[in-house]
Amino acid sequence: MSDCGGGMDEVFEPLERLEDFEGPDISFAEYLDREKVPAEERGRMIGYVEGFNAADHRDVSAASLGAQQKAEDASEGDRIFRLRGGYDQLPAYLAKRIAEYGGTVITGRAAKEIRWKIGRAEIITDSGSFVAARAVVTLPLGVLQGGGVAISPAPDTVMEAAGGLRMGQVRRFTLLFRERFWGGLEPHPALSEMSFLFSFSEMPPVWWTPHPEASNSITGWVGGRRSQALEGMDAEEISRRACATLGRIFGLETDYVSNLLMGCYTHDWRHDAFTGGAYSYVATGGLDASRHMTEPVAGTLYFAGEHTDITGHWGTVHAAMRSGLRAAAQILAHPKLKD
Ligand SMILES: Cc1cc2nc3c(=O)[nH]c(=O)nc-3n(C[C@H](O)[C@H](O)[C@H](O)COP(=O)(O)OP(=O)(O)OC[C@H]3O[C@@H](n4cnc5c(N)ncnc54)[C@H](O)[C@@H]3O)c2cc1C
Repeated sequence: MSDCGGGMDEVFEPLERLEDFEGPDISFAEYLDREKVPAEERGRMIGYVEGFNAADHRDVSAASLGAQQKAEDASEGDRIFRLRGGYDQLPAYLAKRIAEYGGTVITGRAAKEIRWKIGRAEIITDSGSFVAARAVVTLPLGVLQGGGVAISPAPDTVMEAAGGLRMGQVRRFTLLFRERFWGGLEPHPALSEMSFLFSFSEMPPVWWTPHPEASNSITGWVGGRRSQALEGMDAEEISRRACATLGRIFGLETDYVSNLLMGCYTHDWRHDAFTGGAYSYVATGGLDASRHMTEPVAGTLYFAGEHTDITGHWGTVHAAMRSGLRAAAQILAHPKLKD
């Protein structure tokens, strides 16, 4: 039951209708009921929304999916962009710019606590503390909600707003093979140009290759509730299952696929104390949550990060960057407060 990107139009069409969503917010599950979406399409749409948004379809806000759809349409969201050479070039570039402007980037120190009063914020780390007149807190939503960093006094309005958001879950792994064994398979040339592979009845249901880059790797992706199926599995166990799944999809012996495998690379975002999940999504009724999180706390604490995006791009790198620019503009617009 797999296809290579074909047959996806019916999945996207009702999602696009969400752009016109009006009325009191409902969950995506309720939206599917309301639209009387037939069972098979329903499964695919849930698969898509849960996979893309790392969300639970029973909980994610239909209004936020509409806002996201609009935002993506406005920014060529259906085109795939990749940073050649890896995403780490982005933070490396930003760190370089900070240094050029006389700033210092300190890594490898975990914040344990933030103590603050008007005009003074102290960040206590596992080795020493830092004091400043104002602080921008970019802890991931999962860390913020999990209480891994105590903030005292508690920024009640921000934490209450954060209650309208959820940290989504994703499991992603990349398999590196000795050769692009799928390139010569039928249908040809479709498989040799395979970019995405959707296989909703399999685990994981979404796969992609770096096509058109020549590469022998395939990435598997599962988001939302279904990612629990891979919970606690290490790279070895994941690769064993993944080779069996790819064998079924391509009609090949599992051993044939396994013998071509060179390595499997994965990370468990859910159990990472520095993330607590993959990225955020908006829970039903929480459309204004991110906006409320952007309100400065006594002119001293400012919250940023992808979960504070107010342009419909939750869960993305561009949302995170834009939120940083927003927090910087807020600080520059307000005079420094006296302690
Ligand atoms: C598997 C996966 C694939 C993704 N793919 C894409 C994609 O293709 N395109 C896209 O746009 N987005 C993608 N995203 C989402 C994107 O990575 C996030 O939206 C973005 O990184 C959020 O940036 P942020 O600064 O808000 O949070 P983060 O990038 O999570 O940064 C927060 C930082 O805080 C640090 N931190 C946490 N706790 C502490 C502490 N106690 N003390 C000190 N530091 C701490 C963390 O280590 C981390 O460095 C993906 C996410 C995942 C998980």
